Amino acid sequence: MHYLPTRIIYGENAVRKGFVYLNRFGKKALLVTGKTSARQSGALDDILNVLNQLKIEAVSFDSVTENPTLETVMEGTDLFLANNCDFLIGIGGGSPIDSAKAISLTAANQLGKNEIYDLAKFKQNYPVVAVPTTAGTGTEATQFSVLTDAATQKKAGFGHDLAFPALSLVDPKYTLSLPANITLHTAIDSLSHLLEGIYSNQRNPLLYPLIFKGVQLIYSNLYKALHNPLLLMARDALMCASLYGGITISHTSTTLQHSIGYPLTSVYGVPHGLANGIVMQPIMELYYPAVKADLDDLFSYLRISRADFFLWLDGLQMSAGVSIPPEFIDAKIPEILASRNMANNPFEVTADAIRSILEQLS
Ligand code: NAP
Ligand code: FE
Repeated sequence: MHYLPTRIIYGENAVRKGFVYLNRFGKKALLVTGKTSARQSGALDDILNVLNQLKIEAVSFDSVTENPTLETVMEGTDLFLANNCDFLIGIGGGSPIDSAKAISLTAANQLGKNEIYDLAKFKQNYPVVAVPTTAGTGTEATQFSVLTDAATQKKAGFGHDLAFPALSLVDPKYTLSLPANITLHTAIDSLSHLLEGIYSNQRNPLLYPLIFKGVQLIYSNLYKALHNPLLLMARDALMCASLYGGITISHTSTTLQHSIGYPLTSVYGVPHGLANGIVMQPIMELYYPAVKADLDDLFSYLRISRADFFLWLDGLQMSAGVSIPPEFIDAKIPEILASRNMANNPFEVTADAIRSILEQLS
């Protein structure tokens, strides 16, 4: 099964090339961004230029922070409705784009904060345009939105076909301004998505060309982008891999590899991609017996051994930077086991397996 209802324009001047399609969504857009990156990356100016030419009015909502909260989504919803907007443009990393998706659904279905995860109430949407400025989440090609309930510190995603962006304008040049740490963490998020396309019990051979190529692009270009942040070719490779990762999980969804990191992010503020990265090796070891043939194929495609891959990961020197107490592990295992992504593991993962991975981080 293959389904991707998003029109994706990829490459140089993608925003300008999106001109004709942007015109179809209405006359007033809510621009959903964080405080600085939309402007710093150059994406906001490009969008404002095109909107100006099309005489589309822009209302700014720039309050989205990392790991966006349900409250932020409701604030954006109020602004969208108060201004009678017609559509949304999310510009930034996964946080603003996921927020734009959620605002679209809460506004279109008149949902309150406690109904944001209530998929049965999603009947319609407002169109969302995604302009990514990180190369990581692939959210420009997914039906997912990942939000945090500030009150319970619980981070969780929802997935619904109505949350696919209508249009994604993906230009790698917007990632040239990313600092090294965000470049690393976001690339590792993409790598997780691609590997999860192999781990997931919804794995699908149609995706393997994207998965193998995407992993190779990251493996060959991540160090280049870290050492030479302005090297557009390396940025292009990472952006492409991120998009492949998004297309992958839009079909296979994510697994324990993602679930285990959510509480590390919501409680300790470990950036999302880093939270994936610090458990990448133990998760691969856990899954290896179940997906051995496919992982072996991947490594022969990359012309490296699994041990070489682990050395490459070690070289990235990822660490949570916090010591994780046993009480946290006890408290969070039930939340991890209950998370939506756990339905996709290649076999049933036990509480003991999760405990042993988290204990290795302490
Ligand atoms: P992010 O949280 O959107 O942004 C992280 C930081 O990077 C922010 O400080 C942001 O600044 C900055 N930034 C973004 N683009 C930049 C640029 N071009 N130059 C300089 N700084 C820039 O990061 P993200 O990793 O892309 O998104 C993570 C979120 O997406 C998590 O909540 C994760 O769970 C979610 N996610 C969603 C999916 C999905 O399919 N929906 C998949 C995986 C992950 P500003 O605050 O100024 O914008
Ligand atoms: Fe992710």
